[in-house]
Amino acid sequence: MKQIVVLGSTGSIGTNTLDIVERSPHAFRVLGLTAGSNDEKLEAQIRQFRPKAVALSDPAAAARLRQRCGDLGIDILEGPAGVAEVAALPGAELAISAIVGAAGLVPTLAAIRSNKHIALANKEPMVMAGQLMQQEATAHGVRIFPVDSEHSAIFQSLEGHRLEDVRRLILTASGGPLWGLPAEDIQDVKPERALKHPNWKMGAKITIDSATIMNKGLEVIEARWLFDIPASRIDVLIHRESIIHSLVEYRDRSVIAQLGLPDMRTPISYAMQYPARLDLDLPSLDLAEIATLSFHRPDHARFPCLRLAYEALEVGGTMPAALNAANEVAVDAYLHHGIRFGEIPDIIRSTMQAHHQRELLHLEDALETDRWAREKAGCLVNALAR
Ligand code: NAD
Ligand code: MG
Repeated sequence: MKQIVVLGSTGSIGTNTLDIVERSPHAFRVLGLTAGSNDEKLEAQIRQFRPKAVALSDPAAAARLRQRCGDLGIDILEGPAGVAEVAALPGAELAISAIVGAAGLVPTLAAIRSNKHIALANKEPMVMAGQLMQQEATAHGVRIFPVDSEHSAIFQSLEGHRLEDVRRLILTASGGPLWGLPAEDIQDVKPERALKHPNWKMGAKITIDSATIMNKGLEVIEARWLFDIPASRIDVLIHRESIIHSLVEYRDRSVIAQLGLPDMRTPISYAMQYPARLDLDLPSLDLAEIATLSFHRPDHARFPCLRLAYEALEVGGTMPAALNAANEVAVDAYLHHGIRFGEIPDIIRSTMQAHHQRELLHLEDALETDRWAREKAGCLVNALAR
């Protein structure tokens, strides 16, 4: 039985992960759970899975949880340090990294440094400090298994092949909730509309990233470090139906792809139990029923964020961390502080232009850039906020 910790257990990936555990009770034992502030959902998970320790990054939420669960004999930790402590819990061999955003960087590294394999959904740390994370994983003899559906597809399409035979990776993108809209309507689209994803049910931040197509930009950077391949050999293809999850082209022009209905439980379970596959009682893909699959080139004019991500990767060093932080601030401002959808890329671009990129050698370089870029992007938001 594999002992696991789930970071971000109350989110979309976290709950899908626990659904897999529930379906395979003999395969996994949950030792630790962490969340941000949702103490009620965490309480239900505690009562069902009986972990040894949990943490909430919000201390007030942790205090509430202690009042209700203090008698269960479970350690209830708080704050970012508490989350990192659960991430490093002794005895667990796998951490499911499913916190959203830069907040996952320190806990995911803590899990790596305590010799845990990682099932990685939380892509932002890979964007901020992918090279560092891979170096740490190598140093600690652990692996980072992709959960993101595109990266899982590439990982599966690479199995049994030689990396030197790979010509390029082709990441598919659904195009997100706004793909069909005319350019002028996109600028002022309201959050309720942008949050309606056609194929996937996900957390709010990644759904907006999907609408701006920044999600695909973050995934290009994630792929660069997960598969050690330069950005010039990573392409993006819009595929509206989200059936082909990504493809690998080899030097003989053979293309291998992975297909499936859009359900995150498939890639999550593969990362959790690699190389074995779990028996998941889910609907089967029926291609005759789907009948047609469609493909388009990315539209950089209507969706400029994808190109910003390629630019950040080309500059390198701390620039992707600056891009990521500016994006988090801009998305939050769009959702909660009334900036326009069309202003999201402007904030990211201006933050990148102001950033003096330097080499990223240590965790602190990424964290320092994250702080700086948040402040810069925050000033830009304040100047726009109405
Ligand atoms: P979500 O918003 O549904 O869940 C986020 C989780 O992180 C919650 O448990 C929340 O409590 C916790 N959290 C939030 N802020 C925190 C903080 N400051 N400190 C500690 N914990 C905090 O997000 P999600 O959709 O599950 O996505 C999680 C990650 O997985 C993201 O990086 C996303 O890009 C990636 N991902 C998600 C999907 C998907 O289908 N949802 C697919 C691919 C990749
Ligand atoms: Mg994805």
